[in-house]
Amino acid sequence: MENLSTLKLAIRKFAKDRDWDQFHSPKNLAMAMSVESSEVAELFQWLTEDQSKHLPKDKVNNLSDELADTYIYLLKIADHYGIDLISAALKKIKKNELKYPVKKSRGSAKKYNEL
Ligand SMILES: [Mg+2]
Repeated sequence: MENLSTLKLAIRKFAKDRDWDQFHSPKNLAMAMSVESSEVAELFQWLTEDQSKHLPKDKVNNLSDELADTYIYLLKIADHYGIDLISAALKKIKKNELKYPVKKSRGSAKKYNEL
């Protein structure tokens, strides 16, 4: 299993080798990430709940590719601003714990402002 630093370096090298950083403004990266995350959603479009939980192997492979595309753009945006996504995600979980106290939110799909 590779680590995040290795992945970040590979992503940087991929763009640098192709002189693509000129196209990778945060705005363009955010748009690209949104497109790729839509490709994730497209794989589930029109499936039943049950079908979505049991994708065939070829669809799981497609899902893996689209999640990777989304993740790469996410990491590139974070890299641009020097955001450590692991720290940021852990911090956000703490914030979400305050927004969604277990007592109020357990078993509920309501948004925090409706709890
Ligand atoms: Mg894609």
